[in-house]
Amino acid sequence: MKTPAYAAATPHAPLAPTTIERREPGPHDVVFDVLYCGICHSDIHQARDEWGGGLFPMVPGHEIVGRVLRVGSGVTKFKVGDLVGVGCTVDSCRTCSQCRDGAEQFCEQGTAFTYNGTEMDRKTPTYGGYSARMVVTEHFVVRIPEGIEPSRAAPLLCAGITTYSPLRQWNCKPGDRVGVVGLGGLGHMAVKLAAAMGAEVTLLSTSTRKEADARRMGAQGFALTTDPTTFERLSGHFDLIIDTVSAEHDYNAYLGMLRPRGTMVLVGAPPTPTPVSAFSLITGNKRLVGSMIGGIAETQEMLDFCAARGIASDVELIPIQDVNAAYERMMKGDVRYRFVIDMASLPKE
Ligand code: NAP
Ligand code: ZN
Ligand code: ZN
Repeated sequence: MKTPAYAAATPHAPLAPTTIERREPGPHDVVFDVLYCGICHSDIHQARDEWGGGLFPMVPGHEIVGRVLRVGSGVTKFKVGDLVGVGCTVDSCRTCSQCRDGAEQFCEQGTAFTYNGTEMDRKTPTYGGYSARMVVTEHFVVRIPEGIEPSRAAPLLCAGITTYSPLRQWNCKPGDRVGVVGLGGLGHMAVKLAAAMGAEVTLLSTSTRKEADARRMGAQGFALTTDPTTFERLSGHFDLIIDTVSAEHDYNAYLGMLRPRGTMVLVGAPPTPTPVSAFSLITGNKRLVGSMIGGIAETQEMLDFCAARGIASDVELIPIQDVNAAYERMMKGDVRYRFVIDMASLPKE
């Protein structure tokens, strides 16, 4: 089916209107109208091919909330009219050990990512949520619980799960001292989620003007990473650091703020590598780990956790015509705290 969308034709082109072809729905597919799509910094990295290997034309968008329009005859989880979400993945083999373990994002056959990837046939390109409509197999569709405003739920599908998953994996609990680096899309969700899990959260930021917002979101502490005394003052302070920064920075300095046996999780994905000194880890048996999104069941768990605690993203709703301007503002850290595209602005023809 022909579907209006916004695409980057090449790595250096601004996003512009286009039309893409979506598959005709099969028995296990859910067809939905996209209502809202969040803008993740990964959209910028990929649309500009900063990570390399990008597939163009590219329709970004993996924080998607929509309303079900049609379901295949074998669909059991959803019905017409349901409010649904799709995150960073749209298919996987579902039989390998990673898939069976609920880590579809690490499928041994290769996950089908929502965009800048291929379907499991390894030929058909996938196109993301900056589009009017999607067709996704039901396993990869989640339910948006009642009580979360749909536009504010969209960023949970990537920013939410990407920060929820490592907080759970590293057992964030009441009394833990958690540092969150960067208050953007991921960072603001990390602050809210860690605070809801009972941690004592400190925001580590380059922006003085974000302090009041961080405290409103649940942070008890705030420190400027542009001030070198921060790294001395907070030396050995944190049990867990969630690093969401999208640009190059010195991991060694941040590792110094961990307590012995503490853990620093990289979720931010700067395109350039950064050297890590062995001594930053040896001294204090510290862990430097990564984390990539989360599985489908865990995504549903995160959505239900947010609904139960009244947590949602702080969003700036924009028409799709403003997407390129939003990218420029995000490059300057000027985001409060997620741009979400109101897809009603996309002409349907
Ligand atoms: P974002 O909304 O643009 O926020 C990034 C924040 O990092 C900025 O708001 C800023 O916060 C801080 N920052 C930016 N440049 C900086 C610099 N040069 N030095 C220090 N701080 C800087 O981005 P996002 O959507 O949250 O994504 C963040 C990163 O996570 C991206 O690299 C993205 O690709 C990655 N990501 C990874 C996963 C995963 O599965 N691991 C999933 C989604 C996204 P302050 O103003 O507070 O300093
Ligand atoms: Zn993302
Ligand atoms: Zn698999």
